[in-house]
Amino acid sequence: MPGSAEKTLNGLSVDVEDWFQVGAFENVIDRGDWEACDSRVERNCDAILAMFDDADVVGTFFTLGWVAQRYPAMMRRIAAQGHEIASHGWDHARVFTLGAKAFGEDLQRTRAVLEDITGASVRGYRAPSFSIDARTPWAHEVLAEQGYLYSSSVAPIVHDHYGWREAPRFAFRPVAGADLIEIPVTTAEFAGRRLAAGGGGFFRVLPYALSRWAIHQVNSRDERPAVFYFHPWEIDPDQPRVAHAPLRSRLRHYTNLSGMAGKLRQLIGDFRWGRMDEIALREAASVT
Ligand SMILES: [Zn+2]
Repeated sequence: MPGSAEKTLNGLSVDVEDWFQVGAFENVIDRGDWEACDSRVERNCDAILAMFDDADVVGTFFTLGWVAQRYPAMMRRIAAQGHEIASHGWDHARVFTLGAKAFGEDLQRTRAVLEDITGASVRGYRAPSFSIDARTPWAHEVLAEQGYLYSSSVAPIVHDHYGWREAPRFAFRPVAGADLIEIPVTTAEFAGRRLAAGGGGFFRVLPYALSRWAIHQVNSRDERPAVFYFHPWEIDPDQPRVAHAPLRSRLRHYTNLSGMAGKLRQLIGDFRWGRMDEIALREAASVT
């Protein structure tokens, strides 16, 4: 690939939640049953840490407060390896299901636990299921009030579960007069459509060449950093199966889990990656 793309630093992120906490299963697994589920998040995060260590990369772990509270030693291992710890909210309640007040409380509760465990300040936030959209005009204001450096919570696309079609594709300042930067997840423009191309099914289910093409386009044509995300459960083919979930949710969740780790290694090797706070500082300098 040409040189310019190879030099761009892209944002590498992990949304730290367990297999039973994902949006796809929220209607079939009650939050009250989470404690009884067989947790896999710690072993999966340790596998990710080993993979990142092998490749000598650092990234950002957007973590649920619920998970951090139960696995503080894991959080300290993540931080000790040089990764950024950021917030993914308390228990994966999507932002548009909360009001401004409840959202503010969710942020504070999560940040307090994360900062208590690692001693490092939390400067970034990712909304569960990219749930900051046209329904939540107050959300970025709350983040700005609480002093966040950045949010990476918007998917500027149309999708059946999420998306904010009118949002910009690249970093922007969502609140006038505030320093807060929103860095949307990477999209690709393909055959007249805009697709979320920074992770999820696009990466796991479709051929790797498409993701490589999309990130290369963002780096070389748009000359911007890409933002990529994945989840610990995505590298875990042996996770328990949720039999009573809708077929569509199961197809989305379970397809190609076994091929994921290999694809990730390829992706990490093909581009330059760093922490989201580093990307935010660079973008803040270039966005007016
Ligand atoms: Zn999530």
